[in-house]
Amino acid sequence: MDLDSRTYFKLNHVSYGDENFEKYGRIVDAIWPLTKRRDHETPEMWCSRIRDPFRKILEENPRILSKNGYIIMYGKLYENDKVHNGYPTDYIYCSVCDSLVFIPGTGYNPRIYHDSHLKRCISGNTISNDHARRKEILQSIDRREFQIWQYKQYILKEEVKINRLRLELFSQSTSHSEKDKLASVSYDHDANFIASYENYAQSKATVAKNTMPSAPNFEPACISPTRQRSASAPEIRNLWNDRSNMPNISSRTTLGDLAEAYFDSVRTNAGRK
Ligand SMILES: [Zn+2]
Repeated sequence: MDLDSRTYFKLNHVSYGDENFEKYGRIVDAIWPLTKRRDHETPEMWCSRIRDPFRKILEENPRILSKNGYIIMYGKLYENDKVHNGYPTDYIYCSVCDSLVFIPGTGYNPRIYHDSHLKRCISGNTISNDHARRKEILQSIDRREFQIWQYKQYILKEEVKINRLRLELFSQSTSHSEKDKLASVSYDHDANFIASYENYAQSKATVAKNTMPSAPNFEPACISPTRQRSASAPEIRNLWNDRSNMPNISSRTTLGDLAEAYFDSVRTNAGRK
């Protein structure tokens, strides 16, 4: 068997009483410690330390394993004063191409990407390996941009609420409806609007369209959820752009900083086009 995710599963979940129970157990016990990155070890250092013992395990069990396989580098996860050892990183060592390979996790099932890397190495297709590598990295970037976009949708909602609260605090003389208008508060909500990937993709396409011609006055149109008609896009944009001019409105939360950083990068990218 090639040592891919299916084989790992088989080795780890062999039932007591199976004729291979002990053999599988020994293999797992030998591989597991190798997965752990030691403190202060770089991925390259981890790779050169585990390379030989890992290959040895593959070679010493010819009845069970072929010489083709990969091993994932695991890091530590600190949580509530506890250290968990099993936190998979973006690195694997592949015995076929005999190298440390960077495979970005996409949040779903990174093992699919590990397996397809191994498969391509076994078939000797380095060109498709290169192609797939680019595609996986772009997918991973897209996935993260989607997450940032989702955060922004929530930030915008909270900013509208904060603006309304500030107005309530500082301008007693203004009428309620006037304050609602100033803060872009709406009472018509689109229940269908969810910060879904589909909506993200649509707004991304809108940004691309808007920034195609050289746009010195680039506006981050991406922050307007395309299907959220309750507050119009320009209103949201102005709210976002003017938030630093508003009295006491500088909700520089961590997420706010994140979004800011994202806008800067979008602006930089737009400037480059
Ligand atoms: Zn490989």
